[in-house]
Amino acid sequence: MKYNPDSTTFAGNWKMNGRQDDTLDIEKLIKLISEDDANIILFPPYTLISSFVNISKNSNLNIGGQDCHHEDSGAFTGSISASMIRDSGANFVIIGHSEVRAMHGKGPDNIINKIQSAHENNLITIICVGEDIKVRSEGEHYNFISKQLKDSVSTTSNRNNTIIAYEPIWAIGTGNTATIEDIYEMHAHINNTLQDTDIFKKGNPSLLYGGSVNPENAGEILSIDNVSGVLVGGSSLDYSKFNEIIKSK
Ligand code: PEP
Repeated sequence: MKYNPDSTTFAGNWKMNGRQDDTLDIEKLIKLISEDDANIILFPPYTLISSFVNISKNSNLNIGGQDCHHEDSGAFTGSISASMIRDSGANFVIIGHSEVRAMHGKGPDNIINKIQSAHENNLITIICVGEDIKVRSEGEHYNFISKQLKDSVSTTSNRNNTIIAYEPIWAIGTGNTATIEDIYEMHAHINNTLQDTDIFKKGNPSLLYGGSVNPENAGEILSIDNVSGVLVGGSSLDYSKFNEIIKSK
């Protein structure tokens, strides 16, 4: 596993997509990224973690889980714990993706407990924050993100085990990328808010943008101040598109 908070990060969230046959494409991706010094992470569904971990051993590709339960084990049908993700060989986990927040409707305690469990199991967390269109149109987006950030910083957090992804909900899977100005302003806000916390006083974690990133817009997004990588959904499903995004830095 290789993660450097000072390198550019490219994370691909496959959501509920992917079959065993896709390992062939992962082999092709690994060849294309062999010389890359970026942090490259794929988040396949749980069913593919072990096979992707096996194929990506000794490569630049890292593997993660898309969510975890905050408990370690027990009567939680359909759930996966942080220690199970670690046991399957993955090193990363996404916490608080808006699709998971919407499905489970869980509050801030749940997010912080998941983060702590992930860190206790030596997983690096990508924590997603982002407002919906109603919050933005009411002009409440900065307050909303400040609150989500406050609820996402745990005593276990540090810049080596934490990545923050700003993903405005109105930009996810819609083709409506946030404007360069929207991204610049929100990332500056996130940067300032984190700097004010005791945990990140000495240095902020990496900040990613996510929401309809594709090979055409990635280069411009990556050139914005305080954007140190991207979290990609749809365009990460095609290994050649994901590679184009990686090469656009
Ligand atoms: C995501 O699911 O985190 C995401 C950003 O999706 P998309 O790139 O498809 O908008």
